[in-house]
Amino acid sequence: IGQVIENIEKCGTKFVRLQFVDIHGTPKNMAIPLVKPDQMEDILKDGLLFDGSSVEGFVDINESDLILKPDPDTFSTLPWRPEEKGVCRFICDVYWPEGKPFEGDPRYILKRALEKAEKAGYEYNVGPEPEFFILDQDEEGNLIPNDNGAYFDVEPVDQGTDIRRQLVMDLEALNFDVEVSHHEVAPGQHEIDFKFDNALKTADAVITFKQAIKAIVDTMGYMVTFMPKPFFGENGSGMHCHQSLFKGGENVFYDPDTETQLSQEAMYFMGGLLQHSPALTAICAPTINSYKRLVPGYEAPVYVAYGLKNRSTLVRIPASRGKGTRVELRMPDPSCNPYLAFAAMLEAGLDGMKNKVDPGEPTEIDVFGKSIEELKTLGIDVLPSSLWEAYHALEKDDVVRSTLGDHIYTQFRDIKKAEWDDYRIQVFDYELDKYLTI
Ligand code: GLU
Ligand code: MG
Ligand code: MG
Repeated sequence: IGQVIENIEKCGTKFVRLQFVDIHGTPKNMAIPLVKPDQMEDILKDGLLFDGSSVEGFVDINESDLILKPDPDTFSTLPWRPEEKGVCRFICDVYWPEGKPFEGDPRYILKRALEKAEKAGYEYNVGPEPEFFILDQDEEGNLIPNDNGAYFDVEPVDQGTDIRRQLVMDLEALNFDVEVSHHEVAPGQHEIDFKFDNALKTADAVITFKQAIKAIVDTMGYMVTFMPKPFFGENGSGMHCHQSLFKGGENVFYDPDTETQLSQEAMYFMGGLLQHSPALTAICAPTINSYKRLVPGYEAPVYVAYGLKNRSTLVRIPASRGKGTRVELRMPDPSCNPYLAFAAMLEAGLDGMKNKVDPGEPTEIDVFGKSIEELKTLGIDVLPSSLWEAYHALEKDDVVRSTLGDHIYTQFRDIKKAEWDDYRIQVFDYELDKYLTI
């Protein structure tokens, strides 16, 4: 704690933000102006009482007191805030006033899943690939992509070059190990990848990443969206997740003695991901808009299959082996709550290992080139095609449900049902165009 306090003082900090997320993974925070020197010490030790009743997925008004406890490992300054009298933040864990962890805290759900894996000796790593759009306004005030660039384009076609340059430097100031940044396939679409880490650090990083990028680009007069499918007819934004299990510093998914150099554990883990994929989709692609991305023809997965190099499948095993052996799940999108998504992915994979779920043979055909009937004869299932279908798959999946626990499962279910009901009563332009002349 002494070291942390020193860091806070060294940075000339004026405000300390205590941050957490709601059930959707939306960051929330309180800022504490530093006046008394020992004030931060008390908060780091005992946490800070707050009213949890207005946070989505948290608690009722009649039991509203919760405690925020800063995780000292998450200290960082915020580079987009003023340098002088700056701002630093901690990501916090949420507790009941009696001292027990709060079951509605998504970070706790991931910690609980990781602890279970640790008991079996496993460390779970995730490397995400978040994509996003940079938007500008046209004369009528409509939000449009800020350029007409395409995959890997360079300036001046890529109008995001200087924006990404600044983003990467600020992310580095936030301790991100950025591996690559580039223009993506759709106009205005970009990707910045950072190095994999254990799932808790990565989930914290995804929250920080989205928050930082939106805030920084906002100061430049543009807007960033992580919405999965902002434009019909263009690629959507995914957040593919590369996963591996380590035991005693070694990658469990690697086995030099098999033909594919993939271990039996890797195959079973993948079997678990495929088997639980309908329910996982509810958590990893949790918005109505997510399902407009999961359609054929835009590099997003639609069919429950895996491939070794095939990018049309739900799970792909990239070519790298040894320490870099990993399984890439391609249905998650950046609208998911990374704590819940990683917890559910881990438990699905571990369940596959426990029950020795055989993923079958890899699919090396382009699944987008086949009809649903042809795929059915190949034994390939289709992912849920709407939030409502995924919702029902989640209802039936005990492994994914128990990962969330009763509190989050019930809240999630009720919120998603309300979201679906609200959506399905709307009348869209599409319908007027198609049916008005009836
Ligand atoms: N944008 C694609 C998706 O929605 C992914 C493109 C890629 O492979 O990077 O998943
Ligand atoms: Mg990409
Ligand atoms: Mg990828």
